[in-house]
Amino acid sequence: MTASYALVTGANQGIGFEIARGLGKIGFTPILGCRNLERAKESAKQLEEESNIHSEIMQLDVTNDASITAAAKTVEELVMKKGGSFDLLVNNAGIASTSLESFRDNFNAIMNTNVTSVAIMMDTFVPLLQKSTHALGGQIINVTSTRGSLTMTAEGKLPPTRSAPYSVSKAAENLLTLDYSIKYKGSVRINACCPGHCGTQLNGYAGLKTPAEGARVVLQVAVDPEAGTGGYYRLEGTEKYTRAPW
Ligand code: NAP
Repeated sequence: MTASYALVTGANQGIGFEIARGLGKIGFTPILGCRNLERAKESAKQLEEESNIHSEIMQLDVTNDASITAAAKTVEELVMKKGGSFDLLVNNAGIASTSLESFRDNFNAIMNTNVTSVAIMMDTFVPLLQKSTHALGGQIINVTSTRGSLTMTAEGKLPPTRSAPYSVSKAAENLLTLDYSIKYKGSVRINACCPGHCGTQLNGYAGLKTPAEGARVVLQVAVDPEAGTGGYYRLEGTEKYTRAPW
């Protein structure tokens, strides 16, 4: 069987690590894109030992253009050398805060990681995904958050945000997903998923779901033809994912 490669950004911990594990279990070969290569090695070892999953690793800082370009080249060479198909990009890497003191610097850094970097990742990897031989074609899943929902905010269904930069970045990531899904309709499927409130480093482990539970929505969407493109999905209290309010 030829390999079906899936690149997950920020795959060394939290939801990204569990997305990689889950993808490995359903037949993808995960590529762990991590800004710290040592942590990527440790994560690959953990996947092998705990779940018997073979993964590939690469250094990838999504805020660094040279790192993104090098990552795309590595993926291209991997497919050429080992065969198989590059089928899925999961833009999972994200931050909710920084140690920057200036409001502007903090805001810009969060937007840079959660929005600008996602746009550049999509621009860079779409040409590779367009060559996918997967039955569903190439696809991108952006890991976003209910905190970015304009609908739920307008309906008063969310408590006041604790971090305007984070909420605004996720709203922007949602629009980016929609915009790109229209641009690449018929060529690459592009969807957004919200994992729900999971206990991870990002929120000081305050979330109620496990990262593995949060990853499930991404795993379902990744293999479901019905998910189509331009969708926003979550998995809260149901067996199958449902549409999330933009
Ligand atoms: P996490 O445990 O803090 O993991 C975030 C991951 O992103 C880490 O692997 C981190 O790498 C990586 N990352 C950050 N900046 C990066 C960069 N410049 N380049 C490459 N990787 C980078 O947080 P998480 O909760 O799993 O978050 C994953 C995604 O889920 C985020 O997009 C987040 O917004 C979204 N989300 C989370 C929740 C939740 O409740 N946790 C809810 C909704 C959405 P390092 O380990 O090197 O820092």
